[in-house]
Amino acid sequence: MNTQSMKLIFLGPPGAGKGTISKMVTERLGLPQISTGDMFRAAVKEKTELGLKVQSILAAGGLVPDELTIAIVKERLSWPDVRQSYILDGFPRTIAQADALAEFSELDAAVDFEVKDDLILFRLTGRRVCRSCGAIYHMVTKPPKVEGVCDICGGELYVRNDDKEETVKARLSAYHLETEPLIGYYNKKNVLLTIDGSPDAETVYNAFISKIGHFLKK
Ligand code: AMP
Repeated sequence: MNTQSMKLIFLGPPGAGKGTISKMVTERLGLPQISTGDMFRAAVKEKTELGLKVQSILAAGGLVPDELTIAIVKERLSWPDVRQSYILDGFPRTIAQADALAEFSELDAAVDFEVKDDLILFRLTGRRVCRSCGAIYHMVTKPPKVEGVCDICGGELYVRNDDKEETVKARLSAYHLETEPLIGYYNKKNVLLTIDGSPDAETVYNAFISKIGHFLKK
């Protein structure tokens, strides 16, 4: 597959696996990943000006204003490492963001990872993250050997602020209201590729690789 020139966006609800699959693609195929969620979380952690602005929005599960989000993505897309290829994970999330993106970049595919709401709730509310090394666990499907302790580094496991049940529900409603319309938007532009995001990550990754190869040859 020619990954030299492959500009992709990953769509789908929170917890659909966009971050996991894009990290696998980055590790295995070398495509740079741009995650607006990671950028915002880093800003919050470092208490930058941006972080202070978005902190309460992230904690409530809402969307950061378009103007702010578009500006940071536009700046990031001007870097040389993403001139030919990238995966945009979690951007665009509104029609206004998609319109803005169309002005400053061309896309090869919009990949939609489909997962039902009840599975999203199960996945996110059971998720535990290591405070020290960032490793991800799930209380039912991938529990640590000792409760609350990371198998890899012994660090403390915690629930991400926005993985609390009420916040996950707010993130899901923001998704249905603001982001789901992008599926029709990209379908009309003939760049939509749909993947079932409900199986395990390796199965989803393999489905993605085989479908994207065919899709880009069309
Ligand atoms: P994620 O890790 O992609 O689920 O993003 C975490 C949070 O960051 C979201 O719940 C939003 O508050 C914010 N966020 C990430 N990407 C965007 C975006 N494209 N537009 C607005 N807010 C965003």
